[in-house]
Amino acid sequence: MDSSWLENGYKILTSPLVPIKGSWLDALAVLAIFMALYLPVILFLKLKRYRIARTFNQLISAVVFVLFYHICFCAIRNGIYGISLIGTDDLSAFILLIPGVLILVFSMSVGRIFCGWVCPLGCLQDFTAWISKPLRKRKIFLMILAWLIMFWYVIDLYLNRPQAQFISELAPALFVFYMLVVLNIYILVPAAAGFLGKLRYALLVFWVFLILIDVYVVSPWCVMQGGEFYYSWLGSLLAVLAAAMLVPRFWCRFICPMGALLGIFNKVSAIKLEKNPIPSDSESECRANCLMGAIEDNGRKERKCIYCGRCIEKDYYRKEFRV
Ligand code: SF4
Ligand code: SF4
Repeated sequence: MDSSWLENGYKILTSPLVPIKGSWLDALAVLAIFMALYLPVILFLKLKRYRIARTFNQLISAVVFVLFYHICFCAIRNGIYGISLIGTDDLSAFILLIPGVLILVFSMSVGRIFCGWVCPLGCLQDFTAWISKPLRKRKIFLMILAWLIMFWYVIDLYLNRPQAQFISELAPALFVFYMLVVLNIYILVPAAAGFLGKLRYALLVFWVFLILIDVYVVSPWCVMQGGEFYYSWLGSLLAVLAAAMLVPRFWCRFICPMGALLGIFNKVSAIKLEKNPIPSDSESECRANCLMGAIEDNGRKERKCIYCGRCIEKDYYRKEFRV
């Protein structure tokens, strides 16, 4: 099989169509991000049924971001690098900051819709969870599969890529190893979900720390977006998908540093969900229906919600827009 696309990158568009000031920032790409972010808000506010619109929006966004968006899209890392360049190289600072600023401002105004409707890794996890539904009861099999992928990943890293930069290439392995430990604990003690979920803020701090000490860290999120594949990075992505077979959106719920950051903004989002009075025998159905485990015994956890709309479709919650 021709694997040149793996080594050479898989992007269809590799240079800007409408460069801003002759740089590698593409005005069309910025416009695409803007539309990809705001179209779902309109759909979310206007529609009563979300499944088809959300899936369609996720697929279009995934194709655009993964195949056509040709610059790195790490809002956290690029944001920190961008801030450090303000005053010395303003054009580069602007280029690095613009995607992250768009996402952060967007999330401050309407919450974590990016996670529910746009993010390619969220989309891929949803798809994986959907096709693997019949397998989900085979917990042991899936758990072993996830660990095997992890071991293949680390062995590949050490044996086949001895030139690998130790920390930058190992960082996804560390994150994925941690994810599998958390997954095992969650399967054995589901009641620990609340505590385990809070630990993702520690991971966010760790992620920022690595960037500040100049480690070029990547995560499975970057692997989809980055435009080039190392097999070891691919392993981290596959492990995330294996975890999603077992628990939908496991990476998003317990690990993703970007998701942890965006969730903080749900508190100030103009979109609010209010609970409708529901019979108590529907409470457990309401909880089971939520992709993110955001509905707990003592109410909905605002920061976990990705506005997928499943609880609104079932009339458990209603949406409100408050400016
Ligand atoms: S939590 Fe992370 S991986 Fe999941 S949808 Fe949000 S940004 Fe994407
Ligand atoms: S609380 Fe409702 S809208 Fe939010 S993630 Fe759960 S099901 Fe989706």
